[in-house]
Amino acid sequence: MQMLNSINNIRVAKDFRLSEFACPCCNLVMLHPKLLAKLVELRNTLERPIYITSGYRCSKYNSQIRGIRNSYHCIGLAADIKVKDINLIELLEICENIDFNGIGFYEKKNFLHLDVRPTKRSRWRE
Ligand SMILES: [Zn+2]
Ligand SMILES: [Zn+2]
Repeated sequence: MQMLNSINNIRVAKDFRLSEFACPCCNLVMLHPKLLAKLVELRNTLERPIYITSGYRCSKYNSQIRGIRNSYHCIGLAADIKVKDINLIELLEICENIDFNGIGFYEKKNFLHLDVRPTKRSRWRE
């Protein structure tokens, strides 16, 4: 169905579309405004594109990729990101300033996990 090509093709901020956050297996999506607001702040600070490598995940997809149970990705509070031509440590420092409540540093896979969990701050690296 051709119409499905445009599902979630909605601009939710100047530089982000809802489709970028959708689950790759089913196109379902949840996105908390606080997560979006912080990503917009990050985008404006960086002045370059942010690639959402994983946004919302339905529970089926989350278990498929062996995500942790009850992941913040499953309730629209988390995004994994990559940014071209910037050192991951440098990116981490900028994200610290924006104060995402959860930040995971994935050195080998070269991405950051960012979330706006309601509980206390959490930092980890892999
Ligand atoms: Zn799915
Ligand atoms: Zn993540």
